[in-house]
Amino acid sequence: MIYLDNAATTPLDGDVLRDMAPYLCENFGNPSSQHAYGRTAASAVMAARDKVARIFGCAADEVFFTSCGTEADNWAVKGVARALADKGRHVVVSAIEHPAVLESAKDLQNDGFEVTFVSPDRSGIVSARSVKSALRKDTVLCAVMAANNETGAIQPISEIGQICRENGTFFFSDCVQTAGVLPLPAGIADAFSVSAHKFYGPKGAGALYLKRGSRIARLLSGGHQERGLRGGTTNAAAIVGLACALDRAYVGADENNAKIKAVRDLFLKRALEEIEGVHLNGDPVSRLPSNVNLSFDGCDGENILFLLDLKGIAVSTGSACSSGAVTPSHVLTAMGYSAARAKSAVRFTFGKYNTAEEAEETVRVLKSVVADIRKIRG
Ligand code: PLP
Repeated sequence: MIYLDNAATTPLDGDVLRDMAPYLCENFGNPSSQHAYGRTAASAVMAARDKVARIFGCAADEVFFTSCGTEADNWAVKGVARALADKGRHVVVSAIEHPAVLESAKDLQNDGFEVTFVSPDRSGIVSARSVKSALRKDTVLCAVMAANNETGAIQPISEIGQICRENGTFFFSDCVQTAGVLPLPAGIADAFSVSAHKFYGPKGAGALYLKRGSRIARLLSGGHQERGLRGGTTNAAAIVGLACALDRAYVGADENNAKIKAVRDLFLKRALEEIEGVHLNGDPVSRLPSNVNLSFDGCDGENILFLLDLKGIAVSTGSACSSGAVTPSHVLTAMGYSAARAKSAVRFTFGKYNTAEEAEETVRVLKSVVADIRKIRG
C-alpha cells in the first residue's frame, strides 16, 4: 500500500499516542473537576496550552482548543463577523477557501452580510492587490488561507495581513495545511486555525489563535471552558496530542520538508517525463513541499483514483460527488481552468513516511492506469 493523501490526514505518531494514552486511561479525570483526578488532567491541558502558545508565538490565553479545524474556521469566520456587525456587515473571503470557511461565509450571507469572494490567478494565488480592491470601509473580516489544500499554493498572507491592518479589517487565516510546515502567522493574522490530524496528531483536535482583545461571539453555551466561549468537557488527551504533535512537527520541520520535497520532486519529474498530456495545477514554486496536483488529458480524476486504489495507492481528487454527479473542484475552476481540466485532476500529497521507491512505483502504476483509461475512451 502507498499512501499519498497526507493533505487529507496523516497517521498518528507513536510518540504522540504515548503522550496521550495516560489521559485516556489512568488520568481520565475531567479537567474541570476539583479533585486530584481533575487537577492532573487540568495541569496537562495547561502545559499543552503553554506549549502551543510558545509555538504559535502568542500568550496562553490567546489559544482556544476546538474539536477540529472545521470548528475553528466556523467559529472565527462567523463568531468574529457577528461580534463586529455593529461596525459593518461586509466580509471578504478568497474563492479557494476550504468549505469550512466558504460555507461559513455563506451562512453569514443568509444572516444579511454581504460577502465578496476574491478569485485567485491562474497559478492559484490570491494576490494582495485583489484583496485590497475588495476591501471596503465596512469590511469587518477578511479570510485568506495560508496555503490551499488542493493545489498547495502558498498565499501572500503577510502582505494581505498588512493591507487588512491598514483598512482596520480583522484578518483570519486558515493554517490547517501549513501548521507544522511553515511558520505560523501570529502578528500577521488576528486569528488562525490548525488541526492536529494534518501533522501526525489525533483526529478531532483543533486550535484557534485569537489575538487578545478581539471580539468573538461565544461558540457553545454551557460551562466555563475555553474562557466561557466554548463550553464542553475539555478533551485532555486530544489537546495533549495536538501539542505534542505540533512540537514534534516543528522540531524537525526543515529536515522533514526537504526530505518530503525531494520525494515529491522526483515523482513530479518522472510523471511529467514519462506520461504524456500531464499538466501541473498551481504555482510550481510558491507551493507546499508535499503537494502535486496534476491534470491528465482525456481522463477523469475519479477513474484514476479508483484504479490506483485497486492497485493499493491512495490519492484524492478535489471533485465533490453530490447526488451521483461529480462537480469539478471549486478551487481549480476559480483558477480559470475548464471543467474538463478540473475534472481530470488528481492530488498526490506526500508525507514523512513516503520514500523515493514509492514515488517511482506510483509513476509506473499511474502510467499504465492513464494509458488504460485513454484506450477505453478511444
Ligand atoms: N481547512 C483546510 C485548509 C483543510 O485542508 C481542512 C481539512 O482538510 C480543514 C480546514 C478542516 O479540518 P478538520 O478536518 O480538522 O475539520
